[in-house]
Amino acid sequence: MADITAIGEMLSSLRQAIEMVKFLEEHMAPTQQEHESKFAELIQMLGAMRGQLFELQTVVEFSELEKNLQSSDTLVKLNDAYYETDENNKPKGEAYCMHCWETNRVKNHLHRWYENERVNICSLCQTKYLVGRTTFVQGGGL
Ligand SMILES: [Zn+2]
Repeated sequence: MADITAIGEMLSSLRQAIEMVKFLEEHMAPTQQEHESKFAELIQMLGAMRGQLFELQTVVEFSELEKNLQSSDTLVKLNDAYYETDENNKPKGEAYCMHCWETNRVKNHLHRWYENERVNICSLCQTKYLVGRTTFVQGGGL
């Protein structure tokens, strides 16, 4: 599939083409006036192409966005939770729900369950985890 820069270049070329045609139309010699409808047709055609390209651009932008989301998935699993990684690919920060991440690719932090100090719970899917299996202590976690 064409990438986003190629589409951007095509769009700006088309804009220039449309402007050129408009310029030619405005500077037509009076003897060439019978070509006017052809120019109008041409402008309409180029305009339609631009519209289609804009649509394509949106689609490509969206799929690239999705791709970026996937590739920025740098979470690592440690015991029963997932974590963001530091520059050495080591887990850091707070635990993300394993269930939410593995099934829906949703990053949702766990929090301590008010009913049990030894249990972490996900507010989204209500899955409960042992604190000892889902708490990563910076420095001594591994
Ligand atoms: Zn969850």
